[in-house]
Order: sequence, then structure tokens, then C-alpha cells
Amino acid sequence: MSDQKVRVRFAPSPTGPLHIGGVRTALYNYLFARQAGGDFLLRIEDTDQTRYVEGAEEYILESLKWLGLEPDESIQNPGAVGPYRQSERRGIYQQHVEELIRTGKAYYAFDTAEELEAMRERETAAGHHSPKYDARVRMTMRNSITLSKADTDQLLSSGHPYTVRMRIPTGEVVTFSDEIRGTVQFSTDELDDKVLLKADGLPTYHLANVVDDKLMKITHVIRGEEWLSSTAHHVLLYQSFGWEAEMPVFAHLPLILKPSGKGKLSKRDGAKFGFPVFPLEWKDPKEDEIYGGFREMGFLPEAVLNFLAFMGWNPGTDEEIFNLASLCKAFSMSQINKSGARFDFDKATWYNQQYIIQATAEELHALTVSAWPEKATKEYIQSVIRMFQPRAERLADLYEKSTYLFSAPATYVDKPLKKKYKVQNHEAFAQIATMVGKSDSSTAVELADLVKGYITTQELGFGAILPVLRIFITGGMEGPDLFDMMHLLGASESELRIRNGLQYAHQLKSGE
Ligand code: GLU
Repeated sequence: MSDQKVRVRFAPSPTGPLHIGGVRTALYNYLFARQAGGDFLLRIEDTDQTRYVEGAEEYILESLKWLGLEPDESIQNPGAVGPYRQSERRGIYQQHVEELIRTGKAYYAFDTAEELEAMRERETAAGHHSPKYDARVRMTMRNSITLSKADTDQLLSSGHPYTVRMRIPTGEVVTFSDEIRGTVQFSTDELDDKVLLKADGLPTYHLANVVDDKLMKITHVIRGEEWLSSTAHHVLLYQSFGWEAEMPVFAHLPLILKPSGKGKLSKRDGAKFGFPVFPLEWKDPKEDEIYGGFREMGFLPEAVLNFLAFMGWNPGTDEEIFNLASLCKAFSMSQINKSGARFDFDKATWYNQQYIIQATAEELHALTVSAWPEKATKEYIQSVIRMFQPRAERLADLYEKSTYLFSAPATYVDKPLKKKYKVQNHEAFAQIATMVGKSDSSTAVELADLVKGYITTQELGFGAILPVLRIFITGGMEGPDLFDMMHLLGASESELRIRNGLQYAHQLKSGE
């Protein structure tokens, strides 16, 4: 297929929010397509009506949009091979399944749920521990292989419910080559006669997926490892249709594991460990539960992408910061690991910090615009952002940790204040307040020189004054440079805060 234009697809089922593992699949597909100058398609696999979840499709589209992984062809932006939603392609599957029946590669099965259950019990009792509808069992069931043509036609015309099953050959080996795992083999004797068309007339995942990949001219199937075992059936389907020459290249991505490395990361792990496993927040309509999202937790999409890219792939160098454009250049399938990738939330946070540091105050302001006090000016907010940016792990740190730059502290940290504030320095603080109030320093450095000069000439010691001043100004012990903050607050506000703080500290000590 090497002379063909690369076409890949991301094919989620709208059965709930897009898990972070799904996002990684979308990302790798996107990178592979961009790199090869190919197309990235989004196909909605919604043929399982019992698992359909309201809002999931919109969620998928919004997530990809937020991350900047927008497909070249999708339900919103259809290309020539649509529809891109499987539930709208019923006729296509019907036609293909009929072809398989005609050529003897598939058959009608009329077994009821009770008959299937009885088969399982019978098989288990006979010592077959994982009973399946296979070449041997099919001969004991009600289907168009065991029934006469007349009986089959009669059942079909009477409207008896039926499924269509794939007729798996016996004694063969299915071999395919996986870009990540190398040669993979399955014995057909281990495979069951999978249902291709369900009683509701809709196809199963297997049939729809293969037919669509073929008709949508997909050249590479890049998906999660959980689909590896289905690939044997898919390869057989390609053969059954006589499409061997159009078989895509397969690449099965390693699993994303729990932080402990034991087992697959699940949606419950997010709630359990307090980190998001979804790109966006998801309100589950059935469970009445809210699952946190990276976006709502203050992550930048670039950080999420960079973090996800490294879950299962590495560039082979020490470099760790890659935006989407540089990932498109550096990505290569041969650098994808075979073993599972452990979910490390600290690493995600580290990436976010790096992207917050790199962003401009204007960009960060645009992302947080509704979170700031209404009365503050744009210039003021952006100065606050510049001060808090170097220490923010999440976007919310910018506005949650800087509240004292918008209103005077309502409380002070008593314990350190008691320890650091010495009554004999009362007069010195009062003088500093006056000095700061009168100062017309045009920079924070000038203001710092003024105050520090005073401390030095009075031989007070920085340690006795500066931490206390910080508490007066902010109420706490942490934060950006003290003089940067005082300069931003302005002379009279800083003076007022020092005087109020001083009064409070003095009372605190007098009460001892
Ligand atoms: N609909 C499948 C899913 O939800 C697609 C798997 C595949 O890519 O073949 O993941």
C-alpha cells in the first residue's frame, strides 16, 4: 500500500467520555498523518445502541477541538467517503454481509438467548471452560449450516430473529505484521464465529470497522492494544472479502497503566487518586457523577499533548518539551514502546508548569479571563500573571493564589507573625509605612533599595523586617517578590496594609 496516500482514522464509540488513552490514540494517528502528509479521519462507531450515551459524541468533538487535533474528515467536515457515523451506514453493512453469506463466509444463526445459554452450560459441563460458538459448536446449533435451505428460508421469511455469524475456517494460522509488536499469529481454532450482524440489523464492531476501513481507504490502523486479539478476525474478514491487497498496516499501542503500574488505568482511578483521566470534565447523565477534566483542572492543551505523547513514545533523546508542530517532526512509530505506559500525574503537572512558564501573560489572561475580579484592569491582571507564572502548576494557581493583590488580606498567619514581629520594631515599621507611602519609586528595585537602605542604616536586620512586611502585605509567608508586589499595589495601598498589619501584630503580641 506504500504508493497510496496515508489515511488514518480515530474511531471512538460514543459510549461515554473520551478516556485519556483514547486521546493518545487520536494524537498518534494525528501525528502519523501530519508527518506523512496524509489524512486524519474521525469516524463515530455508534452501532451498539445499548451502550450509546447522550452527549458523548459532542464530548469527543469538543475534546479534539480543545487539543487542536482537528480531523480532516468527520461528521462535521465530511469528505468523499461518508457518512462518518456508522449508524448512518446500515445499508452498506447489509450489502456486505449478504455478499459474505453468498460466498459461504458467513451464515444465519437463529439461536435464541436461551439456546445460547443452554449451549454454554452444556459446554462447561462437558469440560470446555470458555465455551464459544466455533466450528464444532456451530454444528450443534440452529443456523443455516445445520438447517436445510427450506427451513432456513422459512425462518427468514417468518421474521424469526437472526444474527449473521462469520464462518471461521479450521486448522489455519492467521498471520499479520504489527508495526509495534512484529509478527503476530493466531490459530483459527482459537477463534469463535463472531456475530457480524446483530438481531437489530446493525453490524457489530468487527464488520463495521473492517468495511469502513476498506471503504474509507484507511492505510494504517493505529489503535489500543485491547484490539489486538480482534485483529485476527479482521484479517480473516479482509480475506473473505478478497481485499487482501488493501489490508491496512496495523499498529497496536501499549496500554496506559495505573500509577502503580499494575493494571489498566480506569475512570475510577481518577476519582481515587484525585487526578483527571479525561480531557474535559464529564457529567455522567446516568450515574449522576462528575468526572474531572484536564481542562477544568487548569491544564493547557499543549501540556496534555506533550505528556500524552510521551506515554508510550520517546524521541530517543533527552529532550522533553515538544509542541504539536515539533511532535509532528519527531514522532516515529519505531520509537513506540511495547510495554505499558504508567500514568504519572506529577509528570503531567511538570509539563503544565513548563507550558505556563513559556506562555505570554496575554495568552494566560485570555485562558482565564472570567476568573479575575471585574474591576481590575487588563494591565494590572497581566502584571499579576507575570509574577505568579513562574510558580503556577495549574492555570487556577494564577488567580487562586494571588487574591491578596486584589483585596487586602482579611487574616494573617498568626504563628509566624508572633515569632517574627518584635515589639521594639514598632517604630521602625511605622517609619517604613510612612516612607513607602511617600515614595514615588518608579520601579520595584528602587522601592526595595529605599526600604533595604533604611533597614541597613538602622541596623535592624532583614530577617526581622522583611518576612513581617510580607505578612502585612499579603497575609501569608509565600508568594512573588515582596517589592514587586508592593510596587504593583502602589504607595498608598502598601502604606495602608503595613499600618493595618502593624496594628494587628502589635495587638497580637500585647495579648500574650
Ligand atoms: N470503536 C472502537 C473503539 O471504541 C475502535 C477501535 C479501532 O480503532 O478499531 O475504540
